[in-house]
Amino acid sequence: MQTLRLTPEDTAAAAAILRRGGLVGIPTETVYGLGADGLNSEAVAHIFEAKGRPQDNPLILHIPEAGWLDWYCRDIPDSAYALARAYWPGPLTMILRRKPLVPDVVTAGLDTVGMRCPAHPVCRAILRVAQVPVAAPSGNTSGRPSPTTAAHMLEDMDGRIDAVVDGGPCAVGVESTIVDLTETPPRLLRPGGITLEQLEAVLGEVAVDPAVTRLMGAGERPRAPGMKYRHYAPRAPVTVVAGDPQKSAAYIAQHAGAEDGVICFDEFAPLFAERDVEKLGPAADKGEQARHIFDALRAFDHTGVPAIWAQCPDPSGLGLAIANRLNKAAGFHVIQV
Ligand code: AMP
Ligand code: MG
Repeated sequence: MQTLRLTPEDTAAAAAILRRGGLVGIPTETVYGLGADGLNSEAVAHIFEAKGRPQDNPLILHIPEAGWLDWYCRDIPDSAYALARAYWPGPLTMILRRKPLVPDVVTAGLDTVGMRCPAHPVCRAILRVAQVPVAAPSGNTSGRPSPTTAAHMLEDMDGRIDAVVDGGPCAVGVESTIVDLTETPPRLLRPGGITLEQLEAVLGEVAVDPAVTRLMGAGERPRAPGMKYRHYAPRAPVTVVAGDPQKSAAYIAQHAGAEDGVICFDEFAPLFAERDVEKLGPAADKGEQARHIFDALRAFDHTGVPAIWAQCPDPSGLGLAIANRLNKAAGFHVIQV
């Protein structure tokens, strides 16, 4: 299959491919998504094939307006509308009870569905023209870092999907926050662009699923099935060093082998001048770190580094999402200094 390269002006072409059951790489503010018509089971099945995604890992449905929620969800709590008013369009996915119209293949047979209204103008335009909810996971091969540019998406998907729309680099850089509203209190399943603190401002108490901060044991089942899989992993093993940035940089400088790669805050790059370095962003700028985290992990796959060491921000604000992605890339191999 030849994968078409589309531009933001090609909204109608992208929507037409979706409507006839094809697969399209779509820019969103979080990461690039691999989209299909979410009401077409056969098209959605092709997403799983293209990614090599396990069948038990459900997809998120993307809609252009919060008003569409009622078509696909039932028993919607007031908190969902409050969150939509506060943070949609934006990087927030709500888990709600689904209506029978939503195909089993989207939800992996669960009676809930993840719903998101994305903010990226190109994505919204495609959703509006297609007039279908678009099922889309991140556009990477299963297990690899999520793509935040069209080029990264093509690294994994060229020849496997119908088209990619190049909407430029993603503004957030990590996937959406997922909050389960079918439970009391609501539960954070995956940290992302909307912070835990922002959720608490609207919802009050929010439980944090254990899968966010630690490795799941063999008998444990995280509520977001995707959280149990090895994820975001570059080819070389990753060690995360968390704690005060001065100390984590010193620890890495002392312990990393001469050939090892380093992911560090910008200020500390000179310490690692002899090594392969990917800068995450300034230590105090988590927005910049979120935008770079997946690119940094991906970049090492083009080098022969035997191991990767990474500095990690504190878990407040966006730090929780960045730390979660780094820790998962490291299989939760984390050293606290
Ligand atoms: P991705 O689109 O690659 O970011 O993956 C979607 C994430 O949403 C995965 O971790 C899924 O397990 C999670 N997810 C999607 N639908 C549901 C649902 N109904 N309940 C819980 N988690 C879900
Ligand atoms: Mg993903």
